[in-house]
Amino acid sequence: MNQKSLVCFDLEDTLIPSGPHTRRAHSAIIAAAAAVHGVQPEAIERRFHVARAKLPSALATYSNLGLDPGEVRGILDRLDPGPGVDAVPHAGLILQCLQELNVGLAIVTNAPCQWARRLLYAAKLDPASFNVIVSSCDVSSPKPSPESFELALQRFDVGANQAVMVGDRDDVDLVPARSLGMGALLVSEQASLAVRFVELLSMVLAPLPTEVPRSVP
Ligand SMILES: [Mg+2]
Repeated sequence: MNQKSLVCFDLEDTLIPSGPHTRRAHSAIIAAAAAVHGVQPEAIERRFHVARAKLPSALATYSNLGLDPGEVRGILDRLDPGPGVDAVPHAGLILQCLQELNVGLAIVTNAPCQWARRLLYAAKLDPASFNVIVSSCDVSSPKPSPESFELALQRFDVGANQAVMVGDRDDVDLVPARSLGMGALLVSEQASLAVRFVELLSMVLAPLPTEVPRSVP
């Protein structure tokens, strides 16, 4: 492969499925919002579910509940993810395979910096194996704003047409990536990263020549 390329991964529900750590983080944030408003956490939880259906991310929903994004980041950055954090099947092997093909690796997440790194360690994915990590601490507007994607491209010094975004949310991960000219691959519980790996490879590897030159007799 002679062309530089980059694969950007969303973190939660793309490389690391939701689990006990997600509930632990959510409870801590809801408790903080309840304290701000002087009400029971159950009341905030109900408001969260109503607002979440209309908003693109959990982060945006926490802001809607009156929590400053900096406060949410602070809560998560102090939190221990605890046990039970696993990467999606074969994630380590897939990342290693891409590295061996000289494909750059990036994380583009709305999670705050320390929380993202702790999740990666807990899931046995070394943060150092990523060339670029863009977290919500690095941008003024998190996904679905294109700012995080643009920053990843800029930090790896690669054009949008040489990069692919892999994520579990069309509206948050894929639409903004496509708007910049990046490739985009949706993953889900059924169509996981391992299931879609061949498709990902075909998107990041330079195309093979379509015509084989004829030998001169
Ligand atoms: Mg996600």
